[in-house]
Amino acid sequence: MSTSMATESGRYTHIRVPEGEKILVKPNGMPEAPDRPIIGFIEGDGIGPDIWAASKHIFDEAVRHCYGGKREVAWMEIYAGEKANQVCGGYLPEETLDAVREFQIAIKGPLTTPVGGGFRSLNVSLRQLLDLYACVRPVRHYDGVPSPVCRPELVDMVIFRENTEDVYSGLELKPGSDEAVKLARFCKAEFGWDVRESSGLGLKPVSPECTKRLMRAAMTYAVKNKRKYVTIVHKGNIMKYTEGAFRNWAYEVVREEFSDVAVSWDDCGGKPEGKILVKDAIADIALQQVLTRPKEFDVIATLNLNGDYMSDALAAQVGGIGIAPGANINYDTGVAIFEATHGTAPKYANLDKVNPSSLVLSGVMMFEHLGWTEVSDAIDKALRKTYTQKRVTYDFARLMEGAELLKCSEFAKAVVANL
Ligand code: NAP
Repeated sequence: MSTSMATESGRYTHIRVPEGEKILVKPNGMPEAPDRPIIGFIEGDGIGPDIWAASKHIFDEAVRHCYGGKREVAWMEIYAGEKANQVCGGYLPEETLDAVREFQIAIKGPLTTPVGGGFRSLNVSLRQLLDLYACVRPVRHYDGVPSPVCRPELVDMVIFRENTEDVYSGLELKPGSDEAVKLARFCKAEFGWDVRESSGLGLKPVSPECTKRLMRAAMTYAVKNKRKYVTIVHKGNIMKYTEGAFRNWAYEVVREEFSDVAVSWDDCGGKPEGKILVKDAIADIALQQVLTRPKEFDVIATLNLNGDYMSDALAAQVGGIGIAPGANINYDTGVAIFEATHGTAPKYANLDKVNPSSLVLSGVMMFEHLGWTEVSDAIDKALRKTYTQKRVTYDFARLMEGAELLKCSEFAKAVVANL
């Protein structure tokens, strides 16, 4: 295995590059981790520093536990959000993007985004600027974690959400602005569309290129992980040329690139004969069926907005967003950012109170992605044990009888003790 030293470190003004080695990317887009990989971390805003400190403690102890000092992560702080504004004078410094591109893998806490004005979502910007086209969110239940449904153990799904297009692409015009009025008039003049000139307007681009690479990632995951079903979730009955086209292009990928291992419902009448069955579902009914018939869902491929709703709704079934991990991955360049899927929960900032599990489980995904499966398995097992011991943070404790209420940092110590 060849690795190279971080020779370009001199180009960063605020980022301090630690001693360590760069992660290389294999031709298939997967990382090749050296023994001391440099991995970027963004602490995040609000509860970010609390959950990052707890998670880092678990990560470092798990690596030590598994490799006894032979391997170690060289953590490199990179800046985004409020801390970036203080340190670098901007919410998303160019050098942060450069560092993620150079060192390939990063992990982040949540970042504040103002609603209805102010600056653009930093999370969305990171995904788009780095072209992290697949948002991967596994949703499964851990024994002992309180859930609002009777059979949470039946939920074992992985959502592949397209991350770069759809109404999230940021092509929006402010209501009443000259541009919005101009576009409304253009629509009337050119297409005969009646759009109120007082409206805020947004574009919903959905392309075959972006749809197909997302579907390819979902199918590759399904094959590699021996999954039985892939469901394309869309609102193609209403939005025919965007969401309907997404469905059609996704099926094209199955027919053109995966016909030896997968078959669409229409092509086999629901009888896949040992192959992966690919079906599609309208988003509204899909949101009902993941709740009422969870066994019938496995891998889900969907557009940006549907995927956002679906991830949080599904997370609720297995214990809430405090325990839902996620990753944003470009499987072509190999660049990936693993992240807590919840927000900054500002009312709990610096109280050492919240559940760090979402970020910890994102780290589990990251170590698995790096091929350090001993570490991901060890953390996963230790987390399970801690939940079944009912040693949990406030969010679970309020729903569990006989739970021992732990602070965020105490929960991390309990997990480490269970490694
Ligand atoms: P939020 O920060 O996710 O918090 C909503 C509620 O979820 C909290 O009040 C809390 O519920 C629960 N929660 C969140 N994280 C938790 C954790 N680690 N442990 C236990 N419970 C947790 O959502 P928000 O209040 O809508 O958003 C706040 C800010 O975060 C906004 O600026 C938003 O844009 C941003 N945001 C960022 C990301 C991201 O960076 N990926 C994602 C979503 C939102 P209870 O009070 O009921 O306990």
